Amino acid sequence: MLLGLMNKHEGELMGEMIGEVLEVEANDKENAIGEFLRVKVKIDIRKPLMRGVTLDVGGGEQEKMKWCPLVYEYLPDFCYTCRLIGHTDRSCEV
Ligand SMILES: [Zn+2]
Repeated sequence: MLLGLMNKHEGELMGEMIGEVLEVEANDKENAIGEFLRVKVKIDIRKPLMRGVTLDVGGGEQEKMKWCPLVYEYLPDFCYTCRLIGHTDRSCEV
């Protein structure tokens, strides 16, 4: 996530685009801790994972869409080639 939109609210918006939001990591000022905004999201692993999401960072007045790349943690055998869980790049048939 980029500077300026690393807060709890943006994390929730982003998480809702990829699944069911369980938790957004933030400090008591509702800002992200560290370089990345970490969001715990429940996702359907049978579907390919999204590489990122497009967020409106214009603040409502003007539309300003920003591409936010996603990095996934704690994935079992995730294939970055076809974006499916269950095997790794080396054993990918794609
Ligand atoms: Zn694969």
